[in-house]
Amino acid sequence: MTRIAFIGLGNMGGPMAANLVKAGHAVTGFDLSHDVLKAAEASGVKPASVLTEALADAEVVVTMLPKGQHVLTVWTDVLRSVPKGTLVIDSSTIDVDSARKAHAMASDAGCLSLDAPVSGGTGGAAAGTLTFMAGGSAESFAAAKPLLEVMGKKIVHCGDAGAGQAAKICNNMILGISMIGVCEAFVLGEKLGLSHQALFDVASTSSGQCWSINTHCPVPGPVPTSPANNDYKPGFAAALMLKDLRLSQEAALSSGASTPLGAEAAQLYALFEKLGNGGRDFSAIIEMFREAK
Ligand code: NAD
Repeated sequence: MTRIAFIGLGNMGGPMAANLVKAGHAVTGFDLSHDVLKAAEASGVKPASVLTEALADAEVVVTMLPKGQHVLTVWTDVLRSVPKGTLVIDSSTIDVDSARKAHAMASDAGCLSLDAPVSGGTGGAAAGTLTFMAGGSAESFAAAKPLLEVMGKKIVHCGDAGAGQAAKICNNMILGISMIGVCEAFVLGEKLGLSHQALFDVASTSSGQCWSINTHCPVPGPVPTSPANNDYKPGFAAALMLKDLRLSQEAALSSGASTPLGAEAAQLYALFEKLGNGGRDFSAIIEMFREAK
């Protein structure tokens, strides 16, 4: 049994903390939202009314927060309160520079740290089947692994500080670009009189195959479980795809990488969101290409 402080108990953090409780760990939680904290209490998390209360006696701290600025603010307070040697894990999706800054702060405080963003969405968080992409020292990774295995199915140590966030945004940049490519191909096929099923049968078994067509096909029919069959209810919301594409472009700028298609994908998803589609599944962007003249 490990004493864990879990900070940020929203759509992802709530079910992740619940799985740690189910596995027999003592989890104290803190969130700025009273409603969210109440929901976590119902799943066995001990609620704390202030951050420092959650940290008292904690051997491990996990944060699951919206953005880099939230993580740096919370980590500053955490690292002031916890004893040397405490393991601090951040599972939020944030920019690589903030992740590296957080690691440096932890190192200055004599703590172990890991960036460990996830993929798998709220369904994976509830089922305990997330994929974790971790960055940090071998010692931090070894200490965190048994807890990550409670919340996830696949745990990959990607390298040193920030490597988990780097892997996450590289993967999601591929996803954003590939979804746009698949959507363009289906719209072109429609104009050429090709049925969705015929294009799917060919491309899903040929060199065009990828997750965006084989698993998350943006037209209804060929893959019955894809959000296209459910009025594009997410799934993976377009606003989150835009967030990750923007993170990839910040990283490209600060590292000097050339990512022209990533930049174009970020612009197209920004337009799609501006048109009121941020809450729909990201595959609904096919409608924007159909409507374009
Ligand atoms: P969410 O908004 O549901 O949860 C974030 C929680 O953090 C909120 O409850 C908020 O009140 C709390 N919070 C914010 N600032 C705080 C502070 N200073 N102290 C304490 N609590 C604070 O978001 P989410 O969907 O759970 O996502 C969390 C992170 O996981 C994000 O970085 C997101 O990009 C990433 N992510 C989300 C998904 C998904 O499908 N939702 C999938 C993979 C990764």
